Amino acid sequence: MQAQAAPRREVLQKETELRLEVKENHSLTLKLVKGQAEIFGTDLLEQQIYTLRAQKIAVFTWEGCELQLQGIREPVEDAIEVIYESGDTPMREYANVHDLLQKRRAAALTHGSEGPRTMVLGQTDVGKSTLCKILLNYAIRKDCAPTMIDLDPGQGSIAPPACVGATPVEGPIDVEEGLPVEMPLVYFAGNVSPDPNPQLYRHHVECMAALLDKRAQSNLQVRAAGMMINSMGWIDGLGYELILHALNTFRVDFVLVIGQDRLYSQLGSIFRGNQSVSVIKLTRSGGVVNRPRELRKSSRDQRIREYFYGPRNDLQPSLVTVPFANLRVFRVGSGFAAPRSALPIGGQSVSNPLKVTPVTSMNDLMHMLIAVSHAQQPDQLLSANIAGFIWISSVDPVQQVVTYLAPCAGDLPAPFLLAGTVKTFLR
Ligand code: ATP
Repeated sequence: MQAQAAPRREVLQKETELRLEVKENHSLTLKLVKGQAEIFGTDLLEQQIYTLRAQKIAVFTWEGCELQLQGIREPVEDAIEVIYESGDTPMREYANVHDLLQKRRAAALTHGSEGPRTMVLGQTDVGKSTLCKILLNYAIRKDCAPTMIDLDPGQGSIAPPACVGATPVEGPIDVEEGLPVEMPLVYFAGNVSPDPNPQLYRHHVECMAALLDKRAQSNLQVRAAGMMINSMGWIDGLGYELILHALNTFRVDFVLVIGQDRLYSQLGSIFRGNQSVSVIKLTRSGGVVNRPRELRKSSRDQRIREYFYGPRNDLQPSLVTVPFANLRVFRVGSGFAAPRSALPIGGQSVSNPLKVTPVTSMNDLMHMLIAVSHAQQPDQLLSANIAGFIWISSVDPVQQVVTYLAPCAGDLPAPFLLAGTVKTFLR
């Protein structure tokens, strides 16, 4: 038997972080030997072994700590892309924002009023998702369970990509598995950007806000805990209009702008004079990693894979073959609509962006992610949320059958399906 290589020991001084990128297709283990440490707000338990797979993280400590890193099938150095310590972090700023939000939650609990509705904004790769995680985890430590809302269909922290979604966050975010997502509220945009169909995106934002408002009205704790909304990194032109629409629709009162002077000043002037909305500018952490287009695409594919196979590859989805006629697939809008950038200046698509039409060619669906809608009738498809997803593995036009991958065997939970444009290869 091969002897295990020696672990790597790291000692962190207080208020510093260890920034670590694990290579694609590699993994390593992390242990907090002593002291206090957290990953994006999730406290590490002393002596517990955490497995990190192709992640880019920072282990931050408020008080100082000793860590141990160990390779799994190789020396730990071989699994590490980048590792370094930094004392230059915006964690104090972030903790101050948490204190502000927590004061609002406490007041809301006392008076039965609404807790903070926070939206995190900034360009791509400024650390928006990370800040949401930190603030959610800090709220959970104070026994609050805010609702997390992800309005970025590009990545998908709550559901696979091409969706917007919401979920209450009742426990700390798992270092290995991410957000604990049970019974999320999900709408399927069909596209990884709202660009081809912004009307549909606005419609979903409105449906979601209306449902979450109802939930908040009926429960004091939920209302007081408030919302944490993650946004897209598209902040110009139409992206900016969609941000304003979301801010108004969710009645956001804490606007956190990371590292973007222009956006901060634009929003500052819009809300100037409005005492109930605070616009706060925050520093981008130097640790946030830029992800090129190919990496974004591969992490989207990975999210879809994880939906079916689990983050630890321990789920067993089923392949099901059915006649064409058994799948009732629809599409919203004009199908594969051209993005606005492909239209002439000032050009408008003449098709009805909210029209629901049946998909007639099963061949188009090959390798596509398809949403299973909660709709009971086709005319409910536009506004109904999503029960789950299937992936089309093969289409056989001769036998007129389709084979799809589903999270579990048996009938689909609902009869109507929604197609978009997201394709990937899973097997
Ligand atoms: P997007 O525009 O895609 O939504 P974003 O603005 O939400 O991106 P994040 O996803 O929060 O950015 O961060 C980008 C990457 O940087 C992530 O992989 C995240 O884990 C990593 N990251 C964030 N903060 C740090 C840090 N302090 N040290 C190391 N890695 C970090």
